[in-house]
Amino acid sequence: MNDPVLVINCGSSSIKYALVPASPGAPRLSGLAERLGSEDARLTGVDSQGRSFSRPLHGAGHADAMAEILEGLEGQHPVAVGHRVVHGGERFTRATRLDAAAKRAIEATVAMAPLHNPANLEGLKATQALFPDLPQVAVFDTAFHQTLPPRAYRYALPESLYRRHGIRRYGFHGSSHAYVSARVDTLSERRHGGWLIAHLGNGCSTCAVWQGTSVDTSMGLTPLEGLVMGTRSGDVDPGLHAHLARQLGWSLERIDTLLNKESGLLGLSGLSNDMRRLHQAAAQHHAGAELAIEVFCYRLAKSLAGLTCALPRLDGIAFTGGIGENDSEVRARVVELLRHFGLRLDARANADTVGGREGRIDLAEDGRPPQLWVIPTDEEGRIAEETRQLLQEESTPHDPN
Ligand code: ADP
Repeated sequence: MNDPVLVINCGSSSIKYALVPASPGAPRLSGLAERLGSEDARLTGVDSQGRSFSRPLHGAGHADAMAEILEGLEGQHPVAVGHRVVHGGERFTRATRLDAAAKRAIEATVAMAPLHNPANLEGLKATQALFPDLPQVAVFDTAFHQTLPPRAYRYALPESLYRRHGIRRYGFHGSSHAYVSARVDTLSERRHGGWLIAHLGNGCSTCAVWQGTSVDTSMGLTPLEGLVMGTRSGDVDPGLHAHLARQLGWSLERIDTLLNKESGLLGLSGLSNDMRRLHQAAAQHHAGAELAIEVFCYRLAKSLAGLTCALPRLDGIAFTGGIGENDSEVRARVVELLRHFGLRLDARANADTVGGREGRIDLAEDGRPPQLWVIPTDEEGRIAEETRQLLQEESTPHDPN
């Protein structure tokens, strides 16, 4: 199958899309419709020649924006649509054809991901209305982590909460962790190894991958657990909620907003959720920015060190996401905090491997110490690949033997 797959990532006020051709490395048309539902709604992106474009969408909602995206596909006809769906619960362990039963099951997980799944469903409906004859596939952020053993996914809570209500750790960023771990397995001579992946974007998570399967990860029931993120707190004392409610009279909604939207790098620095901005401010000795970067790196290093317990052998660490791919200072600080694992950073390779470059940044010439890699993530490519794979399996006649 050589034709493109349209990958859709629908948020509450945005649609990210990419038309992914079958041949790897072929030019990709992609874009982002954002601020949907407001007067400032806008579509920006790059065409298949790599030229940027930007145009107003005049208050468009999801359905109108989707129609506009379709217009901009330069006459190319996708063979399928792959949707990123954030939460698949325990039901979805891999990509799934979006039939009525799958849609009902996604609706049933809305309570688990109230910020994400309703938007994903919205995107799904808008795309199905526009492409009624195209196969639609859901690829779940949680599916890659369904291989976690109980010791990693269970909280120390009464069992009935797990059995009756699905309260457990699920993990997210699955398409990114799956792509990066497969890529580093291919590039390194240490095939089928034990890798730690640090996905550091606006959302941040770590993952331990052993022989291609996720064995532990930093996010949990929701994408709030774990690392310090752009505006999310990551781990806090679970007693914090009760304390804020009792002492300050805060409602659950208020606490939710605090932890998801006002915390992380933004909360610590009092300045910004953007790591680039924080480096600029830290260079001017802004105390909040300096502290935010320090806490971010320390918590990340602690998470990676903790996840080594999940691996029989540590072959290396791979950095990805906007910060992981570009921020050589964060990488250097984290590696310094993990020096007792024998990691040795090549300062020049570290400084040079930015701006979408892929490569090794360690000094392990003898091949023994754990390796360090920078791997630009490709979540859209992975979603397209899983979509194609599913359709191929469906079209392959079943051999009863
Ligand atoms: P998302 O999770 O929304 O896809 P990205 O993966 O694009 O986000 O990551 C966004 C983060 O990456 C921001 O904190 C941004 O400051 C950071 N970032 C991007 N480029 C750089 C850079 N050159 N140096 C440091 N941080 C960077």
